Amino acid sequence: MRYILLLGGNLGDVASTMNDAISHIAAVCSVVKRSSIFESEPWGFNAVERFKNMAVEIETDMEPISLLNELQRIERLMGRKHKTVNRQYQSRTIDIDILLCDSRVVDTERLTIPHKLMHLRRFALEPVAEYWADWQHQVLNKSVGELLQLLE
Ligand code: ADP
Ligand code: MG
Repeated sequence: MRYILLLGGNLGDVASTMNDAISHIAAVCSVVKRSSIFESEPWGFNAVERFKNMAVEIETDMEPISLLNELQRIERLMGRKHKTVNRQYQSRTIDIDILLCDSRVVDTERLTIPHKLMHLRRFALEPVAEYWADWQHQVLNKSVGELLQLLE
C-alpha cells in the first residue's frame, strides 16, 4: 500500500527531528519520496513558533491501524509529550498523521483516512501538492491539487 504521511512540528530543531522520524519510519516501511519543508503560521491556537510540515510517501504491507500504531510509537520516541487535550492544539516536537492510503477509505474511532481535516488545512495540502497533486481524495472526489485551489 502507498500512504501519504504528514509530519509537522513547531518545537526545537524541527527539520532534524523530522529527519530522525523519517529514519525510524524507514526502519519499518519503505520511504519513497519526501516533500520540501513548508512553513506556516500556527493553526487553531496561539503559539510563537511557526509550524513546519513535510509530506512523505511510503510503501508498506502494513494495514492502516498497524501503521498508526507504529507512527504513534515513533512520535513517543521522538519525545512528543503533549496529547491533544480538549480538542485544543498544542506545541509539539513532532506530529505524524496519515493523510491518504491508496484509494482507500477508513472510518473508525481511532482512524479516519483520508484525514478528516486535510482538505481544510493549507499546511497539509501544500506539501502534498508539491509531488502528489493528482492523488484523489476518495470521499470528496477531488484531487489534492483541486482541494488546494478551492482553499485559495
Ligand atoms: P492531531 O494530529 O489532531 O493534532 P493527535 O496526533 O494527538 O492530534 O491525534 C489524535 C488522534 O487522532 C489519534 O489518537 C488517532 O487515533 C486519531 N486519528 C484519526 N485519524 C487519524 C489519521 N488519519 N492519522 C493520525 N491520527 C488519526
Ligand atoms: Mg496526529
